[in-house]
Amino acid sequence: MFKEAKKIIDKSNKIYISAHVNPDGDAIGSTLAIYFGLKKLGKNVHVVMPSYSNVFSFLPGVGDCVNSIEDEEYDLLIALDSSDNTRLAISEEEYNNARKVIMLDHHQISNPYGDFRYIDDSKSSASEIAYLFIKALKIEIDKDMATLLYAGIMTDTGSFNYNNTSSDTHRIVADLIDYGAETVNVCKRLNDTIKEAKLKLIAKTIDNMEVFYNGKMRYSFIPYEEIKSLGIDDEDAEGMTNYLRSVEGTEVAVYVRGKSDGTNKVSMRSGGNVDISKIAISFGGGGHPRAAGYTMKDSEDIEKQKLIKVVGEML
Ligand code: 5GP
Ligand code: MN
Repeated sequence: MFKEAKKIIDKSNKIYISAHVNPDGDAIGSTLAIYFGLKKLGKNVHVVMPSYSNVFSFLPGVGDCVNSIEDEEYDLLIALDSSDNTRLAISEEEYNNARKVIMLDHHQISNPYGDFRYIDDSKSSASEIAYLFIKALKIEIDKDMATLLYAGIMTDTGSFNYNNTSSDTHRIVADLIDYGAETVNVCKRLNDTIKEAKLKLIAKTIDNMEVFYNGKMRYSFIPYEEIKSLGIDDEDAEGMTNYLRSVEGTEVAVYVRGKSDGTNKVSMRSGGNVDISKIAISFGGGGHPRAAGYTMKDSEDIEKQKLIKVVGEML
């Protein structure tokens, strides 16, 4: 499965690993697990992660991440959890400076890139693929790597609740627990702890909620000024969509947050009857049938009307 990738790794020394911008637990877990693995092979390896939510700072290796790729040329880029190379947390120039690129991803709709690609949308997460990749390279998984992979799988499966969770996922997680994954701590830090400002953000999300199509669609927009006034930064302002989706009868939940760069970011969740990846793609974004997103190109009021119409047609 990873034979060609292994050949590329064998020939590479200077390696960078990256994932999508605004990294989630899966992006962080998968990249850093491979980082620790390749260090064991004696590689000169770095993870490029210019910004991330500080809820992840407790994870091993997060402090080792670098902001950019300073080398003019390097042997290999390993890209994880990013269906599109333009979503990677590196510049086009940094991408082009790689002699080889390995792409590992689990998104359904994808613009494949790189010299070696492994894309499997039946896998729960990039971290599940990273586990298989590390195993194929015959690298021993230690406690830190197990904790990282566990964090990635746990977050991308909604704590093993989403339908991307397979029996294989559970078998892999069982292995990770045997390797010493700190499951209780990961759950406590990522599921059970929020800042007070985040609690206020939840209140604001509910306050701003608008309801359409007899409760089948829920929409909440929080302008950047409101997010800023709560003292929340871009990375910490996400994660509100599930609250909207969890309301009885909701088919499509939409949470829109203003960002510090002036754009409005759309995060959507589906109850299962509407494939929202199609909607996101039609607006220039992407994702999975039940979790997708995009950045608004027009003003929020215009984009909202367009979205309400499209959702109505799909309901
Ligand atoms: P979230 O709502 O958690 O930000 O994103 C859910 C999923 O939608 C992500 O896993 C990702 O696959 C996809 N997604 C969100 N925003 C974008 C975007 O701007 N472009 C693309 N291609 N996919 C996105
Ligand atoms: Mn992922």
